[in-house]
Amino acid sequence: MQTYVYSLRGGAKVTHVGNLHGTACGFVFFSSFRVTENAPPNRPICTRCVGKAHTAAIRTARREGRIVDSPERIAERRARIAATRAARDAARQAQLDALIVAALKEGLTNTAIARRARMSMRTTVRRIATAQRRAGARSRFEWGHTVGLAEGRAGA
Ligand SMILES: [Zn+2]
Repeated sequence: MQTYVYSLRGGAKVTHVGNLHGTACGFVFFSSFRVTENAPPNRPICTRCVGKAHTAAIRTARREGRIVDSPERIAERRARIAATRAARDAARQAQLDALIVAALKEGLTNTAIARRARMSMRTTVRRIATAQRRAGARSRFEWGHTVGLAEGRAGA
């Protein structure tokens, strides 16, 4: 059953969708509030609550099979999720690579790099190797040389 929550404070303007435990939008009441089954007619319902409740209702309907997406829609959704994930991963990788390059330039040991990047030793060693390979270097020294040359060119 859908219930509504509203503040008893004088200046309060909206009714939230929710119950004793919280509102759909995550609003926290610092003053006393009331839970009702019928939204008070003189207060509009919080738009963020409406949005969240709507999203939740769609999710439930989809899970219960009351909304069935076309294969095209499903493929679209999957592609969008995959693209978002790929972009986020790429950004994280780039950030880690930059951190590793900076650390290597400072002459940090693998142990120190692992600590700074908050990664396990195994992950650190693997990432350094991957970054080296990506730069076409066979050793740490060769990689440093390559990076140095590239920066020299960029600075010139
Ligand atoms: Zn709300």
